[in-house]
Amino acid sequence: MTDRLYYHDSFLYDFDAEVREVLDSPRPALILDRTAFYPTSGGQVYDTGWITSAANAKFHVTEVADTEDGRVVHYFEADRDFDIAALKPGAHVRGQIDAARRRDHMQQHSGQHVLSAAFLRLHNMPTVSFHMADDYCSIDLDTPTLTKEQIESAERLANEIILENRGVDIRFVTREEAGKLGLRKLPPTERDELRIINIRDFDLSACGGTHVAQTGQIASILLRKTEKVRQGWRVEFVAGQRAVATARHDFTTLTEAAALFSAHIYDVPQQARKSLDEIRSLRKQREQSQEELAAAQAAALLAETAEINGRKVVVRTLSDRDLNFVKLLAQKLTRLSPRAVALLATTSPQPALVFAQSAGQPFDMGALLKETMTKLGGRGGGSKDLAQGGLPNASGIDSVLKAIAENLAG
Ligand SMILES: [Zn+2]
Repeated sequence: MTDRLYYHDSFLYDFDAEVREVLDSPRPALILDRTAFYPTSGGQVYDTGWITSAANAKFHVTEVADTEDGRVVHYFEADRDFDIAALKPGAHVRGQIDAARRRDHMQQHSGQHVLSAAFLRLHNMPTVSFHMADDYCSIDLDTPTLTKEQIESAERLANEIILENRGVDIRFVTREEAGKLGLRKLPPTERDELRIINIRDFDLSACGGTHVAQTGQIASILLRKTEKVRQGWRVEFVAGQRAVATARHDFTTLTEAAALFSAHIYDVPQQARKSLDEIRSLRKQREQSQEELAAAQAAALLAETAEINGRKVVVRTLSDRDLNFVKLLAQKLTRLSPRAVALLATTSPQPALVFAQSAGQPFDMGALLKETMTKLGGRGGGSKDLAQGGLPNASGIDSVLKAIAENLAG
């Protein structure tokens, strides 16, 4: 078993150790007799850093993991010309933790203990799991409901505990002693000795993670998204420097949005609502104008089209109207006249055809469109009275429509 130096001192960033095993598959890795590197466990993610050999070869520790039998594996990246064979069991090395990353993890994890205790004390909501990601952390609370007031009061209490700068210490107790201490959560392991994180007069938890020495080092906790999950409610939070970075990001985003509206950031929701209302109203007006325009254009087209063999075949390519308008025009044509056949096309933004006939006319627009699509290389279909389809390009549309019209008229 590897001697875990971080169990006793979370602020130990440099240490000496001896190589116990050198692994080279699937990735090069080292097992040492002792380590200050934290391996992923209990919701907290691994440390990174460097290991330097006696011959001054330095490699980057990119991931640290636990084995089932209690060894800590340091996965590393070495220069291509590094000879792993030079690193033998018994060799002396020096380990160095990425201190900024460790401090961030301490702030998040200690922040979680404070926050979980706050939810339990104020609202009797136990934490069932903790998750640490690169940008935010989350806890899952065992509760059927969670209100805005409960979220804000837990956040307030957590930040008061931070401000009071309470001591955070580590102690080791037997399982029996732990049972008497009244821990917030007793771990399910069968291990006889438990490591307890004690936040003075506020929280006692069995935990193997790295923690700050005083709550003031957490600096701040900001609660963010909450969502209903299968077994309760998930609360996302950020602590320490992450809280500041997140608030900075929020402010930048909101400032950008406010500039678009030429408004104060606090007026953005109101401005956005106003704009959405305007968009809805304009959309309605536009729909109405399109209807009126299509009706007027249909009347004009019917007036200028001569009736041949008792029907009016209207052929038109509209280069400045989209498919929706062309469909609307086809409907108006076939409703305004009981004897109309419309062979319409648009060329923008995407070439398309719409074929329609007044109810009672004898042709099959769906079949006619399919046949035309085969000729022009497009896809589409529809009913006996109305059909539409898209084309890959606009070439040949006019002559094909003209030929169909002559065919129908004859
Ligand atoms: Zn913990």
